Amino acid sequence: MAAKGDMVLAWTTNADLQKKAECGGAVTALLKYALENKIVDAVLTVQKGVDLYDAQPVLITNPDDLNNTAGSLHCGTLLLSKLIKKYLDGANDMKLGVTVKGCDMMGMYELAKRKQINLDNVIMIGVNCGGSVSPALARTMIREKYEVDPNDVKKEEIDKGQFIIETEEGHKGIAMDILEDEGFGRRTNCRRCKLKVPRQADLACGNWGVIGDKAGKATFVEVCSQKGADLLTKAEQAGAIATEPAPAKGIEIRGKIEGAMLKLGDKWRAKDFAELGEGQTRLEKIMKETARCIKCYSCIEACPICYCVDCSTKNPALVTPGEIPPNFMFHLIRYAHISDSCVNCGQCEELCPAEIPNALFMHAQQVELEDLFGHKPGVDMTLPVLALVEERAERDRLAKTGSDMIYLNCFNK
Ligand code: FAD
Ligand code: SF4
Ligand code: SF4
Ligand code: SF4
Ligand code: SF4
Repeated sequence: MAAKGDMVLAWTTNADLQKKAECGGAVTALLKYALENKIVDAVLTVQKGVDLYDAQPVLITNPDDLNNTAGSLHCGTLLLSKLIKKYLDGANDMKLGVTVKGCDMMGMYELAKRKQINLDNVIMIGVNCGGSVSPALARTMIREKYEVDPNDVKKEEIDKGQFIIETEEGHKGIAMDILEDEGFGRRTNCRRCKLKVPRQADLACGNWGVIGDKAGKATFVEVCSQKGADLLTKAEQAGAIATEPAPAKGIEIRGKIEGAMLKLGDKWRAKDFAELGEGQTRLEKIMKETARCIKCYSCIEACPICYCVDCSTKNPALVTPGEIPPNFMFHLIRYAHISDSCVNCGQCEELCPAEIPNALFMHAQQVELEDLFGHKPGVDMTLPVLALVEERAERDRLAKTGSDMIYLNCFNK
């Protein structure tokens, strides 16, 4: 019987899945077991599209289709949490299994605390995450640094600090440090990310700590909730996976790598935030960069915290309709409403056609607000302090006018 806090090595008992999986295939085997046995109605996960730079979200109801989703797409920069809110009614009427990186999971909590996702209906299988690479930049990087046609790459992986590509000619790896010093490598938000092991999911799965003859053949699983423990136990009893206790040496190595990644995150935060300057200098920099905005709304559409039916940026009293670039109020509204809850998922930057470093601006503010108020977004169900103060006032104001229009973030239905 597995229990919260256990750490095990796990692997699929299905030979076909083992070949396709990133490590031991435990993630896919667990999701498959859950779907086959109606523990969930559907699985939301990611699969390769036209090529390995094209990660697509998929909702799967036939367990046989799950094998196609095995494997890690490191150029998959998508975020699943907002999709659950947008297209699956927040999992209110369905039981859902979902694979989550740290940022997916944090987005889930931010939406759940605002009653936009029903976590009771969701099983989150977390995957550790050292970072992801923007697909467009990955293509340029492979062409320029690896001197390889990106279309010739059969497989990519991140291992022992290297980004490694596999072609007909063999493997080629370059250290992430070198790539990142030259403006390639992981997305800048990923470099600053400090949620490497998603322990607020039900299970946290990865390859760190898998050593010896199990290296590459097993998944390291940390049990993070009773829900996760139950799924692992049942899947093992049914023969869908096999497990053994994680070795002490493996646990130690995993801990050390996680610690090193957290330090690296601190280093990148210090560098990126210092370059942004402080006070007036920072404000001027943000105003200059956001002056390129074409008001396409991608940043708002993709952000897990922005989901209001009547977005204030569409209020003509605040932002003149049809004006491009919009006045700075367009961006100020977002900073005021959500910067205390930003989970640094990078979506607003990744999808911005004007290449405005939106995530950097928001993350820098979030970190300062966390220092001031102690609110850490994405890790539990605590609502942010600023949102509560502001939105309660707004709710009361609206109640006095007899309006039932509640458009601010926390209380929006
Ligand atoms: P599989 O059975 O192969 O299943 C993998 C699951 O991940 C599938 O459900 C698949 O749809 C999903 N998936 C693939 N790509 C993405 C994506 N981009 N976003 C969301 N879901 C995706 N582990 C570590 O220990 N250290 C790391 O540094 C590390 N970095 C990672 C970075 C990324 C971008 C990803 C996606 C994973 C990373 N992992 C890392 C996790 C590791 O690669 C394996 O996913 C994990 O060990 C589970 O292995 P498995 O064989 O059980 O998974
Ligand atoms: Fe992974 Fe963090 Fe980047 Fe999300 S933000 S892809 S969890 S490194
Ligand atoms: Fe402006 Fe970029 Fe946001 Fe589009 S994604 S509205 S261009 S900041
Ligand atoms: Fe993600 Fe940007 Fe929203 Fe922050 S503001 S949660 S980085 S989309
Ligand atoms: Fe718009 Fe603010 Fe709601 Fe985001 S939080 S959708 S900016 S009103």
